[in-house]
Amino acid sequence: MTDCMFCKIAAGEISATVVYEDDDVIAFEDVNPQVPVHTLIIPKQHYANIGDDVPSEVLGKVFSTVKKVAELKGIEENGYRIVANTGDDARQTVHHLHVHVLGGMRLPIRMGPAD
Ligand code: 5GP
Ligand code: ZN
Repeated sequence: MTDCMFCKIAAGEISATVVYEDDDVIAFEDVNPQVPVHTLIIPKQHYANIGDDVPSEVLGKVFSTVKKVAELKGIEENGYRIVANTGDDARQTVHHLHVHVLGGMRLPIRMGPAD
């Protein structure tokens, strides 16, 4: 997709701080981190989100990268949260499938009220 920011990151056309990369996925630091560790994992192929008929192999690659990222970021032992915002109600802003890996602090138990 020519106008997709994350496709451009996957293609190396936009710079990002890369944490892990292989033929199928790339993990990079969120440009606007919400917690001390905030890394995004994306498949290099474009899918809008997890509801976009994503092949199970692609989902497997993305989710098996979570543990690698947690190890590389040093949060494997203390724990972390993964989030995949999907669609409008979830406030998905970048429409290329991505998983947030969040950690490096004790995270809040629950979400706040809707705004
Ligand atoms: P969403 O709300 O779609 O789940 O999250 C998209 C995330 O991508 C946001 O946390 C935002 O800060 C991050 N983001 C948006 N554009 C860029 C970018 O160009 N580079 C990086 N590294 N992160 C981005
Ligand atoms: Zn894309």
